[in-house]
Amino acid sequence: MPGFELFGAEERKEVNDVLETGILMRYGFDGPRQGIWKAKELEQAITEVFGCKYAQLTSSGTAALTTAMAALGIGAGDEVIMPSFTFVASFEAVLSVGAIPVLVDIDETLTLNPSAVRAAITPKTKCVMPVHMCGSMADLDALKQICNEHRLILLEDACQSIGASYKGRSLGTIGDAGTFSFDFVKTITCAEGGVVMTNNEDVYRKSDGYTDHGHDHLGVDRGADLHPFIGYNYRISELHAAVGLAQIRKLGTFLGLQKKNNKALRAYLEQIPEVSFRIVPEGGDDSCSFLSWFLPTEELTRAVVAEMKEQGILAGNFYWFVNNWHYISKWDHLKNAVTLSALSDVQREALLRLKETAFPASDAIMSRCISSAISLVWTEEQIREKGEKMVAAIRKVLQANK
Ligand SMILES: *Cc1c(COP(=O)(O)O)cnc(C)c1O
Repeated sequence: MPGFELFGAEERKEVNDVLETGILMRYGFDGPRQGIWKAKELEQAITEVFGCKYAQLTSSGTAALTTAMAALGIGAGDEVIMPSFTFVASFEAVLSVGAIPVLVDIDETLTLNPSAVRAAITPKTKCVMPVHMCGSMADLDALKQICNEHRLILLEDACQSIGASYKGRSLGTIGDAGTFSFDFVKTITCAEGGVVMTNNEDVYRKSDGYTDHGHDHLGVDRGADLHPFIGYNYRISELHAAVGLAQIRKLGTFLGLQKKNNKALRAYLEQIPEVSFRIVPEGGDDSCSFLSWFLPTEELTRAVVAEMKEQGILAGNFYWFVNNWHYISKWDHLKNAVTLSALSDVQREALLRLKETAFPASDAIMSRCISSAISLVWTEEQIREKGEKMVAAIRKVLQANK
């Protein structure tokens, strides 16, 4: 899964370039920085590697989502339709701009079910935000169709699917804007960081200013910049960008290893007719950072998880259904609207309504799903051992429940 597994001399070299000059900030100091602009270089590389017109780095993936929403004009009282299965950052960003997260069911793509999206549209809906979980994607053609019909914004949370594509285009570059996270466990890491990608110059300009206190970045003297709107500080540092620059150059290697190792592990699980796999929409190319698979029932899945735990082979296998961070069933802080400072009334009421909302269709999928994280550094021998042990654990449970 993560680029940190192959951290090495390339990353150290890029970071050292920055340490040599001591200019750790991405803007200004044109003389002393001696031509070292790691953040700018990484933004350029992102536009080339992923095929988008503009890229704005941020301090995190969460900051990238917040920035994208602000730049797209999503704010107070606007409803953002998003999936019940994601990472908490997705709804944190929605709340941060004053908008309302409207959670809806997923399907076996492990993200937004287009019919559930359609059913959730109200006059307040402003945006549809698929979250391309665990390396693969939503049915983007269906979602685009819905957005076109209802004049809604399509914002892709592609934080977990760096390097995956849909019909030849990189995830994160297909909607009005898209984001990646470069936190420590993502496919490429900056230690902490994120990016907003877009093909819309206006969205890019706004993202650029928003992440730097509203600076227009038009002059050479930061102090003389104008501030056409209010922004925040979501800047990335040169040190973080330097790490990312080395990592993006290795992305092809990471993806090659992920695909190879994913395929090898999958071949073991395919031996079991009761195991099925996550649906990748037609035209989709999974980044293979995870292998997500299903058992026929919740009962069997819980038993397999228990058996794998018992055998000490559960590490790296995620049963999201009971995970504190990724599925609505465990988000009591959200459903009880537990915040440190007051929310707006509409936000608070919307969150409290979530407590009364059931997600049987999502439960039916997530309760049967296990995602196995794919390591970049597994040896063939390790994959064989892992595969054989997993197959044996699953067969044992299936046999006992015949
Ligand atoms: C990691 C992640 C984020 C947020 O990224 P950070 O860089 O950790 O803030 C947002 N959405 C999803 C789906 C993620 O997995």
